[in-house]
Amino acid sequence: MSSDTTDQPFRSGAIEDPRLPRPDFPKQEQPAPGLASRMDPLPDHGETSYRGTGRLSGKRALITGGDSGIGAAAAIAFAREGADVAINYLPEEQEDADKVIALIEAEGRKAIAIPGDLRDEAFCKSLVSQAAEGLGGLDVLVNNAGRQQFCEKLEDLTTEDFDATMKTNVYAPFWVTRAALPHLKPGASIIITSSVQAFSPSDILFDYAQTKAANVAFAQSLAKQLAPRGIRVNAVCPGPFWTALQISGGQPTEKAAEHGKKQPLGRPGQPVELAPIYVLLASDEASYITGEYFGSVGGAGL
Ligand code: NAD
Ligand code: MG
Repeated sequence: MSSDTTDQPFRSGAIEDPRLPRPDFPKQEQPAPGLASRMDPLPDHGETSYRGTGRLSGKRALITGGDSGIGAAAAIAFAREGADVAINYLPEEQEDADKVIALIEAEGRKAIAIPGDLRDEAFCKSLVSQAAEGLGGLDVLVNNAGRQQFCEKLEDLTTEDFDATMKTNVYAPFWVTRAALPHLKPGASIIITSSVQAFSPSDILFDYAQTKAANVAFAQSLAKQLAPRGIRVNAVCPGPFWTALQISGGQPTEKAAEHGKKQPLGRPGQPVELAPIYVLLASDEASYITGEYFGSVGGAGL
């Protein structure tokens, strides 16, 4: 098991037995959005393990929520596959973002850090222009940032909370994608991170689950609209993954420590285990894959 004294994740890369390692995680809590670098054990973003084979050579990608978790795993993998990468995140996540930026640069790829709040339409526009300008264009857009705050009773769900979830998970992908379209040429790929919650909503994730269902419809509708322009759109629907989202209000503290334990594989996924799906969807190899959603739910299915 890892400790907070090392930068090494507690497991890394392909493992022979997919049931391992079993979660036995200490209870922990951080204020949202949380820092992956303060989690115990550290999530595995592929820092020491992901090996690329040039599948995204020369591509230019923008990834929201690229500082940590699933977005960080995609960012590291994209760079190792030969892409230049811009990441967006909240200013308070700079510490996590710095690590991802350093790993992208270590591959000899261009890395662009663009902190800012996606709930602001004007920022979403400026994010895309900063990314496209810094990268010299845009081929891949990953709408991955997300807000998940559990609430046990509908009467306790404030309008402000509901609005923040909608703004982050539904409005921001719309704003960012609309701003990105003028930059996207035939062959471009748009990916959105949805969730198993789109299909099996939890009782305590009323607002979040609705946004994740919207994310699937986003991919399916937009794929039809953009196919004639040669642009593909797909959704990824993860099950339980070990990320900061879960220990910063995404689940009650006791449940977060056991995140994934009830899955057939008996554990949460690590962010690196999703990287191959993002790489495939971003790559030219996926030229006939559009309007689809991909699960990775530890055996429970979507
Ligand atoms: P994470 O906390 O590491 O990543 C989420 C990121 O969203 C944060 O790092 C933050 O940078 C970004 N974000 C949130 N609010 C923002 C805002 N207002 N402006 C800019 N950025 C903002 O957690 P993660 O689990 O890797 O989450 C990534 C995506 O995966 C989310 O869309 C989440 O809904 C989805 N997801 C996660 C799980 C899971 O079990 N971890 C399961 C299914 C889906
Ligand atoms: Mg983060």
